[in-house]
Amino acid sequence: MFVVENTLLVATDWPNGMITPELAVWAVSIGLDLQTQFRTLCERGITVAYNKAVALALQTKYDYFIFANNDIRPSPTLTQPFLEHDADIVCVECPEPHPAAWSSPSAFHAAMWRASRATLKKIGAPWFVRKYNKQGTKQVRCCCEEFRDKAVRCGFSVGHSGWVDHKTWVRPGSRGD
Ligand SMILES: [Zn+2]
Repeated sequence: MFVVENTLLVATDWPNGMITPELAVWAVSIGLDLQTQFRTLCERGITVAYNKAVALALQTKYDYFIFANNDIRPSPTLTQPFLEHDADIVCVECPEPHPAAWSSPSAFHAAMWRASRATLKKIGAPWFVRKYNKQGTKQVRCCCEEFRDKAVRCGFSVGHSGWVDHKTWVRPGSRGD
């Protein structure tokens, strides 16, 4: 479910506090007021940033939340599949380094996603946790997969719908090789 007047968009915008113009344009196109229904959060660590984004959202008066990374570039064709999908937690497919990242219907990655207050409260903190191997020398799962599993254990459905591109950040001075 999605009710535009009761929705807040939270964008994680490390390192430079900026979001793509496409994300702002899309937010306005679905009826969000950027003055009141939009927050940003600049935090370097992804897992901490995602947890902080959810915690920040739950401190507001809104009941529905969209979370997005600052480099996300939604297009108007995203709106319907993303907002009308009926899973409790809906994310958007985006380019992922792992080729099988989206092969399961309940695949979840947190580049852009939405959920309700009730869902996030029931799942409870920490929403995102990173899993390492026994020695702690290698990350074995991304924090999104842990979140998805915790949500499913709490009885929620997780789906993905729509597709977004994201910006490739190029380090100043690098030639990209
Ligand atoms: Zn992920």
